Amino acid sequence: MNTKKSSPSVTEKSLSKGELMVLNHPLIKHKITLLRNKDTRMNIFRELIEEVSMFIGFEATADFPLHEVEVETPITKTFGHKIEGKKVAVVPVLRAGLSMVSGILRLMPLAKVGHIGIYRDPKTFEPIEYFCKLPTSIEKRDVLLCDPMLATGGSAIAAIDMLKKRGATKIKFLCIIAAPEGIKALHDKHPDVKIYTAALDEKLNDHAYIVPGLGDAGDRIFGTI
Ligand code: URA
Repeated sequence: MNTKKSSPSVTEKSLSKGELMVLNHPLIKHKITLLRNKDTRMNIFRELIEEVSMFIGFEATADFPLHEVEVETPITKTFGHKIEGKKVAVVPVLRAGLSMVSGILRLMPLAKVGHIGIYRDPKTFEPIEYFCKLPTSIEKRDVLLCDPMLATGGSAIAAIDMLKKRGATKIKFLCIIAAPEGIKALHDKHPDVKIYTAALDEKLNDHAYIVPGLGDAGDRIFGTI
């Protein structure tokens, strides 16, 4: 696997056909370890997901273009920067993705939020769409698709299919932990979607859980264990 340090806090890895950015900041590693710990309580788990999501959102927006603007300080006029007329849509995959939204909105309080609901057919294991509500002009927006665990990639692929079917073209996938199997599957189908993750784990187990992972993210966030 080739690795390249893209910024002090992100490593770009070539594991698949597309781009993969793995956060490597010490604070992220510390928080991921707390998230993995089975004894971390639900309230702390939620706070950690929010904080880590903010850092992931920070990196996922690092390529947003700027334009120069004039600004008057109490002392003098000078030049500063504004983000180029960006229209952002944060789109969580229900239900675990919801936990990532508040952290990202702390960075971009005016971003619109869409929702995607997918469940797995118990017989065929095919992902089935049951909900999709997106902000207007999705084709013009930078879409930050969020789901904390990229495991097999099935839901992520289905969510991206749904977004593209509705016109989205600029999609980034943000997760907390990714498995190599999910990264490969996602990039085989959607090589244009850049993946941002706070941790790259070893593998999936026979039940499609990420190893070492953190267990069932939805259950730990919503207390449904
Ligand atoms: N979803 C989870 O919540 N955890 C995993 O390990 C895999 C999928």
